[in-house]
Parts: sequence; C-alpha cells; structure tokens
Amino acid sequence: MRVLVVEDERKVASFVARALRENAYAVDVAESGEKALGFALDYSYDAILLDVRLPGMSGIEVCRTLRQRGVETPILMLTARGLVEQRVEGLDAGADDYLVKPFALAELSARVRALIRRGFHKSDARLRYADLDLDRHRRRATRGQVDVPLTSKEFALLEFLMLRAPDPVTRSEIVEHVWDCHFDSETNLVEVYINRLRQKIDQNHPAKLIHTLRGVGYQLALRD
Ligand code: CA
Repeated sequence: MRVLVVEDERKVASFVARALRENAYAVDVAESGEKALGFALDYSYDAILLDVRLPGMSGIEVCRTLRQRGVETPILMLTARGLVEQRVEGLDAGADDYLVKPFALAELSARVRALIRRGFHKSDARLRYADLDLDRHRRRATRGQVDVPLTSKEFALLEFLMLRAPDPVTRSEIVEHVWDCHFDSETNLVEVYINRLRQKIDQNHPAKLIHTLRGVGYQLALRD
C-alpha cells in the first residue's frame, strides 16, 4: 500500500514516514501543498496524510482541490489541538478523518489501516484466499496453518495481490501500490519479488496460487 505524507516539519515527516515504512507501506513525502498536489495527481495512493498547516497552500485547500479534480483517495487530516473549526473545515473540504497533533504512532497506524480498508471497502483485518491467510494487524501470513515469514516488501506485495484476488493485477499497478516514487520501474524488482513470494507461498504446495499472466501481469488465484 502506498501512502503520501504531506508535512512541512521535516522531523515529523521523517518520523511518520519511518513508522509507516516499518509497517510495510511505501511512502512518499511532500513538504508543501503544491508538491502534494503534483504527487497526488501523478501517482495513485491508497491514503494521504495531510497536515493542515503548510506554508503557502494549506492542507484544506489541497484537500478541496484534490476532491474537485476527482481524486477519491482516503485523506487523513493532521490538525492542531483544540482547533475544532480546522477539523470541521477539513471534513467539509472532503477529508475522511482527522487526527489531532501530537499523536501516538500506534494511533496513526491504526487510523491509516482503517482508512485504507475503507478505500478498498474491506472491513476485515484478515484477508483470506483458499488456505492462505493474511493477518494485517499482526503482519503475519500463514498458508495451511503454517507460518510464512515475509519481509515487509513481500508482505506489501502479497497484501495487494490478495486484496484483488482472484482478479489479475498489472505490473504497473503493483509498482504504484507497493513501491514509492523513487522506484526505478526499468528494473526487474517486481519479478524478483514475485519469485520470492512464489517460493515462500507455493513451493511446498501442489495447488499453486501465484500465476503469471503473460502480457498482463500477475494473479493470485486457485485454478483447477
Ligand atoms: Ca505543518
């Protein structure tokens, strides 16, 4: 899942970005409203964390503009303590939720998860497909009750495949949702990660779940 963090205070931004990356999200950071608009219109995000107080264009204006341009990505506003009118304004501008600064990282992670679930219309903290089970809270994957240890990128890739399963996903959709904007799409990293997942998920099972669709992309599906 890919998240855009919009925050001009560098310390806060890097703290939040690091916490999200540890939770297997791909994260882009924008330090101004103008940059945030550019990112959000160019790339597809699963959630946007938007600070209200930014130099130049405010978070409220960014939110309103994105909604006017038809961007429906879930937006979490970061607002200052006690400023009720900021929250109301943010929600009126099309934000989905708000979080009052300063916040605990655990709460931020929980809100981002809830926001992304809402975006995908999935109310479940667990994703299941065939005998594959993904616990998104504990960040654990099991196949047929057996633990499958995954790195955070492998987890992010599997999560994305499972959210769409059994529908196919294209390589560029994977790049958009699993990697951040610094990803060099000319590399074969997606293929490398798909192969690693295959080894971990499918190797010891007669029923293969991860399939390559030539010229299309990949698919997590149980075939006869
Ligand atoms: Ca700020």
